[in-house]
Amino acid sequence: MPELPEVEVVKKSLLSKIIKLKVKKVKVKNVNLRYKIDKKSINSLKNKKIISIKRISKYLLINFSNDITLISHLGMTGRFYIEEKKKILKSSFYYNNLTKLRKHDHVVFIFNNRLKIIYNDIRKFGFLMIAKTSKLKNYTSFIKLGPDPLKNKFNFKYFKEKSINKKIKIKDLLMNQSFVSGLGNIYVNEILFKSKINPYFLASNLKDVDIKKIVKYTKNILLKAIKHGGSSIKDFHSFDGAKGHYQEKFYVYGKTGLQCSSKDCKALISKVVISQRATFYCPNCQK
Ligand SMILES: [Zn+2]
Repeated sequence: MPELPEVEVVKKSLLSKIIKLKVKKVKVKNVNLRYKIDKKSINSLKNKKIISIKRISKYLLINFSNDITLISHLGMTGRFYIEEKKKILKSSFYYNNLTKLRKHDHVVFIFNNRLKIIYNDIRKFGFLMIAKTSKLKNYTSFIKLGPDPLKNKFNFKYFKEKSINKKIKIKDLLMNQSFVSGLGNIYVNEILFKSKINPYFLASNLKDVDIKKIVKYTKNILLKAIKHGGSSIKDFHSFDGAKGHYQEKFYVYGKTGLQCSSKDCKALISKVVISQRATFYCPNCQK
C-alpha cells in the first residue's frame, strides 16, 4: 500500500508533467472504485486548467480552475500513468503484458496537448472524487487527520502532549492517522528500529529522549524514501513506471531471520503481529 513517500513521489511526477494543462475530455471506463465515481461531477473537469497539485497525508489533491479539486487516494494498488501518442512513457511497468494492464484502466484524462493521464487500479480500493477547493477544509476525511509528519507541527512538544496519556503500544500510536497522518506499516517498522524502541513499548512510558528520536527518524526516513523514489513493494511504481528504490535500504521490514544491520549486533530480526500487522524488529537493539 502506498504510504506518504510514495504519494509524494506521484505528486512530484504529476507536477512535472501536467501542471497548467487543460482537460479536453474525461473518459470513465469503470465507475466502481472504492467510492462510485460520479460521472457528472468528474466531467465538470472539462476545459479546466490544473493550477496546483498538493498532498494531504496519503491523499493527492489536483486543484483546477473554477474552484474544483480532484481528490485521489491510491488505496492498495492505484496508480497514474502517462500516455503520449498512444505510447506509455517509459515502459518499466509492473506488467509486461499490456492487455492485462489495460484491463485495469478506470479513468482517462485527455489534455489539450493530447497527453493522457490514466488512473489504473487492480484492486480498486482507491478513489477519485470531485470537491470544491474552497471547501476542502470541511472534507470529513481531512478533519480527523493528525499533522503531516514532515511538517513542523509534528514535533517533540506535540508528540509529548498527545502521547502522555496513551497507554497503547508505540507502534499502534504511530499507525493511528489521527495522531500522525501518512505513516503506514513499512515506515513505522523502520522508524522504531532506527529509534531503538521496542514496538510493544507503551507510548505513555516514553522518555523525552525517545520521543525526540522518534520525531527525528520519522522525518529522516520519510525524506530519504522520497529521495529514492519511494519503496516498490508489490505494486508501487511512480507515475512514469519507474520503480522506487527505498526497499533496498530497509533495516527490518521483511527481514525476518536475517542478521540485524546495527554494528556489533549479532541478533536476528524477529517478526511478530501487532494489531493484525506484521511487525519486524531487532530484539537486541529494540529492548
Ligand atoms: Zn540489533
